[in-house]
Amino acid sequence: MMKTFSIGGVHPDDRKISAGCAIEVLPVPKTVYISMAQHLGAPAKPVVVPGDKVKTGQIIGEPAGFISAFVHSSVSGTVKSVGPRKDLAGNPVTHVEIEVDGDEWMEGIDTSDTLAAEVPADVQFIIDRIKGNGVVGLGGATFPTNVKLCPPPGKKADILILNGAECEPYLTSDYRIMIEKSRQIVVGAALMKKVLGVGRVVIGIEENKPEAIAMMSEAVRELAVSSPDYAGMEVMTLKKKYPQGGEKQLIDAVTRRQVKSMGLPIDVGAVVQNVATSLAVYEAVQKNKPLIDNTVTVTGECFPKQSNLLVRVGTPLSYIIDFLGGMPADAAKVISGGPMMGKAVSNLDAATLKGTSSVLFLTEAQTRRKPETNCIRCGKCAEACPMGLEPFLLNKLARNGMTDELEQNAVQDCIECGCCLYTCPANIPLLDYIRVAKGEVIRIMRSRTAPKK
Ligand code: SF4
Ligand code: SF4
Repeated sequence: MMKTFSIGGVHPDDRKISAGCAIEVLPVPKTVYISMAQHLGAPAKPVVVPGDKVKTGQIIGEPAGFISAFVHSSVSGTVKSVGPRKDLAGNPVTHVEIEVDGDEWMEGIDTSDTLAAEVPADVQFIIDRIKGNGVVGLGGATFPTNVKLCPPPGKKADILILNGAECEPYLTSDYRIMIEKSRQIVVGAALMKKVLGVGRVVIGIEENKPEAIAMMSEAVRELAVSSPDYAGMEVMTLKKKYPQGGEKQLIDAVTRRQVKSMGLPIDVGAVVQNVATSLAVYEAVQKNKPLIDNTVTVTGECFPKQSNLLVRVGTPLSYIIDFLGGMPADAAKVISGGPMMGKAVSNLDAATLKGTSSVLFLTEAQTRRKPETNCIRCGKCAEACPMGLEPFLLNKLARNGMTDELEQNAVQDCIECGCCLYTCPANIPLLDYIRVAKGEVIRIMRSRTAPKK
């Protein structure tokens, strides 16, 4: 029997209408705007000034803390400005603006397509390459990958899980890379397996992606006979259910281990990495290529051309839209990410980030919310919640600002998956209130443990 996670979950319609679109390389724009806040943690510190000439792959931002990452130029050209610019949500963030001139890459980067499958013996070399090339988690959290691969003292992983679930409707970028770059992803997994010192790697893919399952299984089989570095790897077909791609849900599905409230995967001996991160790890270690491009799904029923594009980091969304035929007249909302967990884009001049996986266009009819009515205490939201929470209660507590009770009822564990909102027959905007309350409760919890000034 196919496995899945054991608590809650919903079954939204797939709508993966771009699944058949092979990855196309988007031409480099005339100007890129590269954010210094590409990752979770402290934004990078710019190390270039206006007038500097840069090459593709050159460092333009350095980590500004333990949880931070290098940022590289995704193009060659001249730095025009360094300063605040609005991001996808409309917030001012430091960007480096670069006017493109040709495409001259830094020396030492292998841009060939030749598969480099030999896993280096030196673990520190692998970690240094991952860190030095600015790899961050591409499954949504953008946590610096080198930090995640080095658990704190006393914690040890025994399994690496690759997340190939891509459970959100519409998204197909992971699906395409699993088909088109399967061997590279498996090599990336072997590199992370080496760093973690684990014997088992499971690549979890949902049942609705048979072609990806076949290609990844073939890559695992083929590489297993080439070296012991590829032993202990398997593809696991998972029963389709949203949010299977959530770290805690995927660990439950694959291992039946439960991560406790406010706990981390490493507490149960697991490390989860996205398949796109594994590809970035391959390129960083085996090709010395910094994370300067990523695959972005551009989709939506109202959009003229469904696509999966290889996009240089820092490309303005408006450039992508123009390349694909312009903004559809009936598009009412643009989302970065999927319809369940993605964030509304308020600024089409904003540029893509390392973690941008999708640009989704929805019509007014697709985004219109039905009028809210009273809670009928049906319990559907609690049944759907994959974290075992009671969204109807959290909603009530949040509306009344009852932070102590919210904490006691574990609002901080909410993964903002939207299952409660999706399932509520009374159309109550549960997540809107819960998200704000969660932010406030986490702020209070952190202030208790913060060092006194
Ligand atoms: S958004 Fe939060 S409360 Fe709602 S179902 Fe998901 S985890 Fe539960
Ligand atoms: S699903 Fe909606 S109506 Fe049902 S209990 Fe939850 S909040 Fe109330």
